[in-house]
Amino acid sequence: IIRMEGVSKWYGEFQVLTDVDLSVRTGERIVICGPSGSGKSTLIRCINRLETVQKGRITVDGIELTAGGKNVDAVRAEVGMVFQQFNLFPHLTILQNCTLAPMRSRGMSREEAEAVAMKYLTRVRIPEQANKYPSQLSGGQQQRVAIARALCMAPKIMLFDEPTSALDPEMVKEVLDTMIGLADDGMTMLCVTHEMGFARSVADRVIFMAGGQILEQGTPEAFFGHPQHEKTRQFLGQIL
Ligand code: ATP
Ligand code: MG
Repeated sequence: IIRMEGVSKWYGEFQVLTDVDLSVRTGERIVICGPSGSGKSTLIRCINRLETVQKGRITVDGIELTAGGKNVDAVRAEVGMVFQQFNLFPHLTILQNCTLAPMRSRGMSREEAEAVAMKYLTRVRIPEQANKYPSQLSGGQQQRVAIARALCMAPKIMLFDEPTSALDPEMVKEVLDTMIGLADDGMTMLCVTHEMGFARSVADRVIFMAGGQILEQGTPEAFFGHPQHEKTRQFLGQIL
C-alpha cells in the first residue's frame, strides 16, 4: 500500500534521508526506531507529504505522491496521523475537533459527522468527554481524541510519531492499548516509537534508522534477538 523508492531529502546542505526504499503491505504493522535526528519523523511525514522530497518516488495506495497536485489531497484523505503533541484545536470541543475535517473535506452533514465521531470516541473509551475542551482532558485522553479524530476520516493508513513520549507514564498504557486495538482490527500502521514492548507484541516488522538510512529491519524476534549492526546493538543497549 506504500512504496518508497530511492527517496532522498535535503534540508539545505544537510541530507536527512539517503536513498530510502520501503514497501509496506496492506495491514502491515511497522515500528520505526532509531537515535534522535536519524530521520524517523521526516520519513513518515513524507508519506502524507507534510514533507516533500528532492529525489525518488513515493506511491501510496496506487497514487503517486511525488507527482504533486491533486494527488496530494487524495493521499492525505487516506492517511491519518497522530503526533507527539496531540495537536488538537484548543478552541474547539472534543466533538468539534472530530467533526471538523469530515464535514469540510468529506462533505458529511453535522449529524452524520457527530455520529461517526461518537462511534470513535466510544471506541477510544472517552465518549463522556465529547463536550469538553482539550485543556480539560489528561494527556492520555487528549491523545486518544487525536486518534479518534484521525479515524473519523476513515483512513487506510495510520502514522504515529512518538504518540506516547509526551505522556506521563501512567497514561502510556491507555494510548498503547488503543493502538493495539487498531492493530487487531487490521489497520495498516507505521509507528515511530521507543516502546519496545509494543514493538515486540504488535509489530510485523521493526525498522531501525540511523543517519537518514534504514540500517536494518526484521521481525521483532530477529531484530531484538539478533541485531546485525553494531549501531543497532548500541541503540538497543541504551533503551532496553
Ligand atoms: P527524534 O527522535 O529526535 O524525533 P527524528 O529521527 O525524528 O528525531 P527528524 O525530526 O526526522 O529526526 O530530523 C532528522 C534531522 O533533520 C535532524 O538532524 C534535524 O535536525 C533535521 N531537521 C528536521 N527538520 C528540519 C527542518 N525543518 N529544517 C532543517 N533541518 C531539519
Ligand atoms: Mg522525531
